[in-house]
Amino acid sequence: MNEESTRPRSRLIVLAGPTAVGKGTVAAEVRRTHPEVWISVSATTRPPRPGEENGVHYWFVSDADFDAMAQRGDLLEWAVVHGKHRYGTPRGPVELALASGHPAMLEIDLQGARQVRETMPGAFFVFLAPPTWEELERRLVGRGTETAAERERRLETARVELAAETEFDVTVVNHEVHAAAEELVALMGVEAPDHEEASTNCSPPTL
Ligand code: 5GP
Repeated sequence: MNEESTRPRSRLIVLAGPTAVGKGTVAAEVRRTHPEVWISVSATTRPPRPGEENGVHYWFVSDADFDAMAQRGDLLEWAVVHGKHRYGTPRGPVELALASGHPAMLEIDLQGARQVRETMPGAFFVFLAPPTWEELERRLVGRGTETAAERERRLETARVELAAETEFDVTVVNHEVHAAAEELVALMGVEAPDHEEASTNCSPPTL
């Protein structure tokens, strides 16, 4: 990694990394501590987990609605994650956020990150890595929300995803959530929260 590679070339930051590394938790910490950073809300065909809210954690959509969004070109990227459900980034809100000058962040899987690299090569790609593989396994098992078969499928995905680190502009190691979030925000060139509300997540994607 040279000095040039640690400097964001745009205000769009793509955060990816292996499953259970804590991407969602780090993104939530950025949302809590830096409201000036706009974070994309993905659409997914996965059903909500307890406590998850439509429009906050995800837009929970039917297969038919997801098909329609993909066919209309309304998704900046989309992928089947863990061989099961589809997840995608609604394009319009990202464009709006960037146009309004907000630093914007996507928290997506590796397949999605690769698609964004094709369509938005100026984005800055950050790989969130676990301190060690053992720690990643511990976090995956510790989460306890998946079946054994689902966990094994996610571990297999994680092995492949870890090998992709070299494709990214920079790696942030998730030793501790707050520190990782601060490192990420520093990479965006955000200096201090101005407590301005980024509001483009408020309306649902067109279904
Ligand atoms: P979960 O079901 O645990 O919330 O998320 C599963 C995986 O889907 C995570 O690795 C997350 O990064 C990924 N993901 C979430 N939203 C998107 C998206 O819009 N596009 C892609 N490609 N992956 C996503």
